[in-house]
Amino acid sequence: VVQAPAQVVPGDLEALFSDFEIARVTQNLVRLCAAEFTGRRVGSVGHEKAQAWIRQRFEEAGLAAELFPFELGGEVLDVYDRPSIEIVGEDRALRYRTDFAEHPRSAELSGVIEGARWAIIDAVPQGDEFDVLATELHEQGYFGILAPQFPTKDGFLSKRIPARRALPLPVVAIDAELLPGLDGKDLRVALPLRRFRPRTAHVIGRLAGTDETLMDEPLIIGAHYDAVGDDIGGMRLPGAADNASGVAVVLEIARVFARAQRHPRRTLLFVALDGEEIDALGSQAYAQELAARGIRPRVINLDMAARLGEAISVEPGASPAETLEALDQAGEWLEQPLAIASVSSDNRRFAQASFPTVGIALGAAAMHTPADTPDTVDPKAMDAAGRLIAATIWQLAFAESDDGG
Ligand SMILES: [Zn+2]
Repeated sequence: VVQAPAQVVPGDLEALFSDFEIARVTQNLVRLCAAEFTGRRVGSVGHEKAQAWIRQRFEEAGLAAELFPFELGGEVLDVYDRPSIEIVGEDRALRYRTDFAEHPRSAELSGVIEGARWAIIDAVPQGDEFDVLATELHEQGYFGILAPQFPTKDGFLSKRIPARRALPLPVVAIDAELLPGLDGKDLRVALPLRRFRPRTAHVIGRLAGTDETLMDEPLIIGAHYDAVGDDIGGMRLPGAADNASGVAVVLEIARVFARAQRHPRRTLLFVALDGEEIDALGSQAYAQELAARGIRPRVINLDMAARLGEAISVEPGASPAETLEALDQAGEWLEQPLAIASVSSDNRRFAQASFPTVGIALGAAAMHTPADTPDTVDPKAMDAAGRLIAATIWQLAFAESDDGG
């Protein structure tokens, strides 16, 4: 077998690579996970601060930065004060986030509920079936439902805040192992919970392209900056892998391209996306708006760049042939294996709008729990994601086309 000679990376791409600093990416990551940003949950003060910080980074890099505010087509679940559950007469309390947690379908709650009229269910019905069951239990006079949830390997009940229809009564998620033991017990439950429509906005850093014929076909490089948020008065959930890691990488790519000698032919939109943790309603609103304006972007979305496995996962949507070709070439230059795999993130919303899209993910040690901390993010994974995406952007937006254009 004759070994093919290693493919040579083009000179000006090599120059871009040498400008890409992993130390800055790690700094971005740590900063996005700072206590000041309170875990970046939509509607929190920390989230707004993170938004402003990202905008400053784009401006500092020399990009035209703007916010894209949007109406959230659903409500956010908000545990607005420290919750507690005590077992009356046993001098015992359950611990929030490890023994019990909020449930996305719970009714709003305030004050303290005391008594034994909690219905314990051993499996959670899906969709409308849960409505039927909850209505029945409500009519039978139950206060609420205790539903099983299985802890992660770190022992946490992951935080789920998607916008779901509220049931007619409160639901509390309980560690499935503890649940049978609560049967017939007198509980004192405080789980201050409301639903609201917060202000939401994507942060866009724009690098204008030179080719007029490509004006309506920009390249979006997206990564969501929102996360599930710290527990009020409880544990921090910094959202490091999911998805400070992706945003940190995109910020550094933006900086590098803004400093490049040449302007891109195709406009580059670096977008810190909002509202991914709320059923990706943010990217849905953005995609609809772009489509209404007659803009057909190509999209590369990065969600979780925290662990370097055997291959980087790529999920294509809406026939992104050209992007896949560029990704393959980038993978060869970097000797980085890629694999078609499921990437469930904002990329699916762009693909639904028929924009040629790829979702890219490298995995995480933990997500939606206090275990998702910056020290679990492998800088090598962020470095690999950054170089792969930079080399892909370079081909799609900078390289001269074959016809000499
Ligand atoms: Zn994510």
